[in-house]
Amino acid sequence: MDMGRRNLMISAAALTLGPGALRSSSALGAGRAERPLGYAIVGLGYYGLDVIIPQFVNCAHSRLAAVVSGDPDKAKRVAAANGLPARSIYSYADFDTIRDNPDVDIVYVCLPNALHAAYTIRAARAGKHVMCEKPMAVSVAECEAMIAACKTANRKLMIGYRCHFEAFNREAMRLARTGAAGKIRYVRSEHGFVQRDPSKWRLKRALSGGGSLMDMGIYSLQAARYMTGEEPVAVTARESTDRRDPRFAEVEDMIDWTLEFPSGAIAGCQSMYSANQNRILLMGDAGRIELEPATRYAGNMMWLGKDGREQAVTPPAGPGKTQFAGQLDHLVASIRTGREPIVSGEEGLRDMRIVEAIYRSSREGRTIRLDNNRRPNART
Ligand code: NAD
Repeated sequence: MDMGRRNLMISAAALTLGPGALRSSSALGAGRAERPLGYAIVGLGYYGLDVIIPQFVNCAHSRLAAVVSGDPDKAKRVAAANGLPARSIYSYADFDTIRDNPDVDIVYVCLPNALHAAYTIRAARAGKHVMCEKPMAVSVAECEAMIAACKTANRKLMIGYRCHFEAFNREAMRLARTGAAGKIRYVRSEHGFVQRDPSKWRLKRALSGGGSLMDMGIYSLQAARYMTGEEPVAVTARESTDRRDPRFAEVEDMIDWTLEFPSGAIAGCQSMYSANQNRILLMGDAGRIELEPATRYAGNMMWLGKDGREQAVTPPAGPGKTQFAGQLDHLVASIRTGREPIVSGEEGLRDMRIVEAIYRSSREGRTIRLDNNRRPNART
């Protein structure tokens, strides 16, 4: 990205059409004195402990109510540091007794991917709403079982797709939808980082369900869908992995896939565990929208290129103080209003259908056509 482009600023006001339709705080009835809903965080690893728990201070309608961990000492420390009583600590073994805790409204599953389905289903059966981290699960069948369990229990299910609450991504979506770059013809979306430690669960297929695609590739895939606002009709993928590298004995390193959309737009997506990359590019017939970095926790940047000029875009604020707070409060709003979350279990299932098609295409060396008209629970 050349610095000349970065220096040209375009004001958010000039680009803003109105309040975002996804704003969750308005759905909550600002000013109404309702108690914040309580979240139980399952899994006190990097994301649950270091990223999500510190975000409750930024929330207007959500609070930390319990922790679930396999490490009793860590759980006690975290509970004490967050003012939780001992009765708000659960192990994986006694997790199901969370049904008797009225302080817990929502269970947030921050576990390795292969455990998402089991804990989502247990949470729903315990009568709790569920926020589940991405990827939703490791197979379409698991996603369907999660949706069914939440439906049976009459509980909401939301996937932790935080970018839908991130200011730059929301503004890029709005710009794309309102034709700021003309008709979108091509999307490029690349996400990756250097995965150095071969002992990580992310590199063990039984826990991760796959390699970079199941981790950073979900961002590339999501972006292609939410930026175009379309569902792909075909996917063609290929993988490049050095299987002699001990990190990649079980899962893929790099995978590149092309999505074809009904409008004729094409998305070239990629993920890898051997380079740092975080970029989304939208090419329209009247300009370009580029985000780099695109989906980080903070510090994202965006440019609009049009009529021979490249301008940095400063987006209006997102729905929460941070993307995480917006995400956490959105599920509360969905529960209170009875509306489906904008990133529901069905949204995670749609991604997983495409993920399975990406792997299949790469394995079989051919284009896989996707049927978007089938009923949500129909099997291939
Ligand atoms: P992590 O390894 O740091 O934490 C995983 C936690 O699960 C640990 O506390 C671990 O003890 C616990 N655990 C329970 N049973 C386990 C088992 N059988 N094997 C291994 N660990 C077990 O991982 P993380 O980075 O916190 O990722 C957790 C989830 O969050 C993943 O699904 C990941 O994709 C997702 N995540 C999302 C984002 C995001 O930006 N939305 C970022 C990072 C991670």
